Amino acid sequence: MAVDALCSPLGPPACEKDAKALQFIEEMTRSADAVQESVLAEILSRNAQTEYLRMYNLDGATDRESFKSKIPMVTYEDLQPIIQRIANGDRSPILSSHPISEFLTSSGTSAGERKLMPTIQEELDRRQLLYSLLMPVMNLYMPGLDKGKGLYFLFVKSETKTPGGLMARPVLTSYYKSNHFKTRAFDPYNVYTSPNEAILCPDSFQSMYSQMLCGLYERKQVLRLGAIFASGLLRAIRFLQLNWRELAHDIRTGTLNSKISDSDIRGCMARVLRSDPELANFIEFECSKENWERIITRIWPNTKYLEVIVTGAMSQYIPTLDYYSGGLPKVCTMYASSECYFGLNLNPMCKPSEVSYTIMPNMAYFEFLPHDPNSLTVTSDKLVDLVNVEVGKEYELVITTYAGLCRYRVGDILRVTGFHNSAPQFSFIRRKNVLLSIDSDKTDEAELQSAVDNASVVLNEFNTTVVEYTSYADTKTIPGHYVIYWELLSKDSSKFPTQDVLEKCCLAMEESLNSVYRQGRVECNSIGPLEIRVVKNGTFEELMDYAISRGASINQYKVPRCVNYTPITELLDSRVVSSHFSQRLPHWTPERRR
Ligand code: AMP
Repeated sequence: MAVDALCSPLGPPACEKDAKALQFIEEMTRSADAVQESVLAEILSRNAQTEYLRMYNLDGATDRESFKSKIPMVTYEDLQPIIQRIANGDRSPILSSHPISEFLTSSGTSAGERKLMPTIQEELDRRQLLYSLLMPVMNLYMPGLDKGKGLYFLFVKSETKTPGGLMARPVLTSYYKSNHFKTRAFDPYNVYTSPNEAILCPDSFQSMYSQMLCGLYERKQVLRLGAIFASGLLRAIRFLQLNWRELAHDIRTGTLNSKISDSDIRGCMARVLRSDPELANFIEFECSKENWERIITRIWPNTKYLEVIVTGAMSQYIPTLDYYSGGLPKVCTMYASSECYFGLNLNPMCKPSEVSYTIMPNMAYFEFLPHDPNSLTVTSDKLVDLVNVEVGKEYELVITTYAGLCRYRVGDILRVTGFHNSAPQFSFIRRKNVLLSIDSDKTDEAELQSAVDNASVVLNEFNTTVVEYTSYADTKTIPGHYVIYWELLSKDSSKFPTQDVLEKCCLAMEESLNSVYRQGRVECNSIGPLEIRVVKNGTFEELMDYAISRGASINQYKVPRCVNYTPITELLDSRVVSSHFSQRLPHWTPERRR
């Protein structure tokens, strides 16, 4: 059949396979409510005999009314005892009638540890289905992507086992290690420069080095460059800054750096390596320049766009990405989590500020809690169905998944921007309670407070206390790092804490932060050493005066525990008397599951 004959309302597909994908999107979004109803019925009927649904006396009902009247909305903490039982080896059908195949470790934490999300084998198919829709949409806006390759920096992270023997690992590690990814069919529109062996190497240096080397060899074929998050792509650029001499040496000689010891990588790189002095000269010429502006387009001249998430906390990296890429379009393709993959961006070439994700109604059952930051009590009777959300309003996402999470609060706040057919589209506003984030780490106010409390203990013997503090995610450095501003009160000026003591405070704070933060510091090198900037006495009073001059009420004024607004960070920085960095890595080992 001629591809034109399959023309989708989204636009003319690039090939027949794309036509089918676009048609699927149309079908799902046109009948969003009916799809949702049947997704819920399927989840409830297959899980009717689970301990969880029986506990709420659903009695096999699969309709929305019974579900809504009997099943409560929950948080991770509510489910934790059940999840722990599964982790400990209870194989009875607790949440899902299908066996829990593994746990996906979320970057969201609970009591300092990654949350464990149960999943079932068939979820891999659902994830792959969502992935399969991305290129057909992209091809509508960017023709010719089958004429070259994508340089994507993709990584696996370490995995552990729960006491009951189930694997616990991040969702992308699970996906890259699955046959769905490893033995994927050749698709001319989706060819990567990175070999699977390089992606699957758990050592982040070796993985990055070999992915970069392949990307350099194929620099003219590269049409798009990406990583999952903007921070990851910037880390790759930083890696090039630090390692271009060794990479150029390998290209010149056609040999592989001895630091690359992974035998699978060495095996596959033997097929890629060749001596190319001209390319080596070019890399050296470009990388030795002082100015790295537009380095991406200089080295990869045919790059049409960057594919990275720049929504949510990642928007802080947009100016740096623009600097290195000369303002190439930044494409955010999808919105997903360990709990469930949610949806995709149907207008991927739009500006980052306009990105909206269309939730695919086949992925799970979705409900929306109207977001009211002032309300202390939330009740499930306020939940709104997918098709009934209102444009302009903000909601918290609540999901019911095939793996057995029921009316689970994800913690993301979304705003409705419009509809595609009857499926709503959302801009990602923020994750609840996140104060600081550099990469996938998420630090909330309570965690920061307790880190400051623990670090201040170090100051006791100096008769010094932290009178006020605030924080800032500094992304001007790569990797970015946390900056904590401290105003100190020393009762004994002859004993003011020394540089060494304040460095210990930095480390003490890092030791107190959650495991995702510490993993970022130790395993992924995605977060730089924490910095304490000691400010002059009276600085926080000035900060209050500034806020009041801008209309804050003097009675209600609270010190912001995180500052982003430039005049405020400038004010703080102008009062810094000393700055101190953590000199050691905090403790981190792949989590042991109780
Ligand atoms: P994790 O469970 O570690 O996979 O993290 C999932 C979380 O990452 C989501 O709940 C969001 O808070 C965030 N996230 C995922 N995709 C996006 C996106 N496209 N834009 C902004 N935030 C995202």
